[in-house]
Amino acid sequence: MNRNKGKEAEQAAGRSLEFLVPRSALGWSWERARTGSAASARAFLRLCRRAALDLIFPPACLSCRAATDAPDSLCPSCWGQARFIERPYCERLGTPFAVDLGAEGLLSPEAVADPPVYGRARAVARFEDGPIRRLVHRLKYNDRLELARPLGAWMARAGTEILAEADLLVPIPLHRRRLFLRGFNQANALAQGVSAASGVPVDPFVLARVKATPSQVGLSRTQRAINLQGAFRVPAERMARVEGRSIILVDDVLTSGATVNAASRALLRAGARQVDVLVFARVV
Ligand SMILES: [Zn+2]
Repeated sequence: MNRNKGKEAEQAAGRSLEFLVPRSALGWSWERARTGSAASARAFLRLCRRAALDLIFPPACLSCRAATDAPDSLCPSCWGQARFIERPYCERLGTPFAVDLGAEGLLSPEAVADPPVYGRARAVARFEDGPIRRLVHRLKYNDRLELARPLGAWMARAGTEILAEADLLVPIPLHRRRLFLRGFNQANALAQGVSAASGVPVDPFVLARVKATPSQVGLSRTQRAINLQGAFRVPAERMARVEGRSIILVDDVLTSGATVNAASRALLRAGARQVDVLVFARVV
């Protein structure tokens, strides 16, 4: 998700057969293999497997499935359309500022007027039509196994600062009825991806969704908050995992903030020292 990768992707797009050489080849050398060990032999085998897989299934854009030069990336077109969130942004809400005011630690007027329950929120990109919405949709409805790891790695990069202080990742839970219907929780899949990239452990059982909330679409801010009152609870047997801990709530999309505020309140009531939020995309 860094800009260099995008440029590389653009440069490579015009070259044929380039995609046959996996990017992982760069990390391996004969020099290291000669001096090396079992670990190096394993790395070589991994490389061979990757190369074989790339021949059978050439790497495709995570969002639109067009051919790309590297696995787990976006094609130049999707890259150009996605709007990643970078500084300057509001230190609490993580919402980007239209102009760079040149000062560190700025807060948006919204964060001052109506401070969130959580401490800080961070997101990879803006949630809007195009490649980002498509990624969220694919994750939710079919391709979680393929997407959770790369998207989780992008999230780990966007949340570097808050992850450095975190003890635990907690995915926003689904009510068990919805979990049953969908078969999995996309927030948990992303949290596992963030964990793989950052080393911060996940506990999907710290928060329970005790109230089935109807769809939030079309509700006002206040209605959403009322809708979610008492929706989350920390089960008695999990209290010890929360007390005094710094926790990051993980979700796919941050919309009004009503859901993460309700979940943060439940964690803080259970004794969490700090609650931050990490999402893949957010409405700006
Ligand atoms: Zn694409």
